[in-house]
Amino acid sequence: MKIQSFGAAKTVTGSCHIVQKNGVKVMIDCGLFQGKDEENKNSELGFNPAEIDYVILTHAHLDHCGRIPMLIKGGFKGKIYCTKPTFQLARLIMLDTAKIMLEDYKHNLKRRLRYNPKKIIKENLSNSNKSNSAHIKNETHQNKHHNIHNTHNTNESGKNESNTNTELLYNEIDVFESLDHFNPILAYNTPFVIDEKHNIAVEIQDAGHILGSSFIKLMFGDSSIIFSGDLGNKNKPIVNNFSYPDEADAVYIETTYGDRLHKSFDDSKTELFNIIETTFKNGGNVLIPSYAMERTQDILYILKGFYKNGKLPKCKIFLDSPLAINITDIFLRNPEYFREDELQLFQKDNPFEIPYLIETREVEESKEINKFTEGAIIIAGSGMLTGGRMLHHLKHNLWRKENSIIFIGYQARGTLGRRIVEGDKTIKVFGEHIDVNASVHTINGFSSHADQNELIEWLSALKNRAETKIYLIHGDEDKMTIFKEKITHLGFNAYIPSYAEDIELGN
Ligand SMILES: [Zn+2]
Repeated sequence: MKIQSFGAAKTVTGSCHIVQKNGVKVMIDCGLFQGKDEENKNSELGFNPAEIDYVILTHAHLDHCGRIPMLIKGGFKGKIYCTKPTFQLARLIMLDTAKIMLEDYKHNLKRRLRYNPKKIIKENLSNSNKSNSAHIKNETHQNKHHNIHNTHNTNESGKNESNTNTELLYNEIDVFESLDHFNPILAYNTPFVIDEKHNIAVEIQDAGHILGSSFIKLMFGDSSIIFSGDLGNKNKPIVNNFSYPDEADAVYIETTYGDRLHKSFDDSKTELFNIIETTFKNGGNVLIPSYAMERTQDILYILKGFYKNGKLPKCKIFLDSPLAINITDIFLRNPEYFREDELQLFQKDNPFEIPYLIETREVEESKEINKFTEGAIIIAGSGMLTGGRMLHHLKHNLWRKENSIIFIGYQARGTLGRRIVEGDKTIKVFGEHIDVNASVHTINGFSSHADQNELIEWLSALKNRAETKIYLIHGDEDKMTIFKEKITHLGFNAYIPSYAEDIELGN
C-alpha cells in the first residue's frame, strides 16, 4: 500500500491524500491551497484525476473540498462519499468560490485591459484555442482582492481565507457537474463497503469540528488507516465533541494548533459579552468580521444564550452575509448532527433565532445598516477583511472611538485584519484612508480546531500506540515539529511527510 499527500504536507491548506493498493486509488479530501504563499499550487493537481477511483470527504471547509471541481474537469469518473451536511455545505462553498474566482478574474482582466489591451486579447485568443481554456495567467495582478459589496469568503482553517487565485480554476458549471458525483450516504459509526471486489470499506466518526465533519477509517484489504480530517476543540456549541479512534496501522493527524493551547470557551464568552456591554454603554456599534461557516453560527448561538439569560441589552444584530444566512439554514435542516446534550433544546427552539436578529441578503439592505450609529452588532464577512461586506462597515464605523471591532479568528500575515490587530492607526479601504479609533479586540477561544492537549488526548485513545505509525499533516512545519517532539516523548512513532512523498505501508 502506498500513500501520497498532494496538499497539507508541511502546510495548513490543500488537504489531499491518495491511498493506493492493487491498482485502486482512494482519495481523502481534495482541498484548495489558500494564502499568498500557497495559492499558486492550485493550478497543478500533481496527479491524474482520471486514475482516482473514489473520493472520501472529511468535511466541507474549502481547504478540504475546494479542488473537487478540478478533479471532475480532469476526468474523474468515480463517486465522492461524505455525510449529508458535508454535501450540502460543500455545495454552497464550492459555488461561492466559483463566483468569487470569476469576479476576481473579471476584475483583473479589466485592469489589464486598461494597461495592455492588445496583449490581453492575443492571450485570450490563444487560450481559447486550447482545450483547457480556463487557465489564463495574470502576471500584472496587483490587488487580488476584489472589494465588491456582495462577496463573501468562508474558510476558517488558517491562512488566507480569500480565494486569490490568478487563474480561473473552475466555474459554476464545473461545480454543478461535480455535484452529480456526490454520494452523501456516510453515517457516523456505520461501516460502509465502497468496493466489494477489492475489499475496501470506510467507517467515519464525528470529528467535532464543524457540522457533519468526520474522521475516516479506511479499511483496504487487511490494512487500515485513519485520517483525522480536522478535529474540533471540545465543549464548543452546536457540534459534539470528537469521538475517539480505536486502532489502525497508520494515522494521519492534523496539527493546525499542535504547538499551543486555547483559552477556554467560557472565558471567551465572558470576554465577548463584556465588550458588547461596554461598547453599547459608550454609544457605539460592535463589528464582528466572521467566517460564514460554523463560526457565525457559534456566535449567533452564544448571542442567543445571552438573550435567553436576559443579559443581552436591547440591540440590533445584523447578519450581513447571504452565504452565512444560507449556511445557517443548512444547520437548521440537520439537527441530528447537533450536540446530543442540547438536541432536545434545539428541537424546541431555533438556536439561532433572536428577536433582535436582522438578516440582510440584498446589497440595499446591507447599505441601510450604515444608518445605525449605536446599539448594533454587525456580523459579516470576510473573517480576515480580505473582501466582503465588512469592508463597507469598516468605512462607516472604524473611525469612531465609541465602536469596537472583535476578531474571533486567525488573521493571516498580509491581511487587513492582521494590520488592524497589530495596531495600524490608519488603514485604506476602497482607496480611502480610515483612522482606526474604534477599540480593537481579539478573542482566541472560539477556534474550531483542537489544541495541542486535545490532539494528544485524541491520539492517546489508540490501542496499539507503539505499532501505529503517526503521520503529521495539515500544519505549519515549525508547529508540526513541536508536536512531533511532544508525542515522541509519549511513545508515538511520528513522521512528517513531504508533498507527494511515497509512504509505503504494510503490503
Ligand atoms: Zn476544517
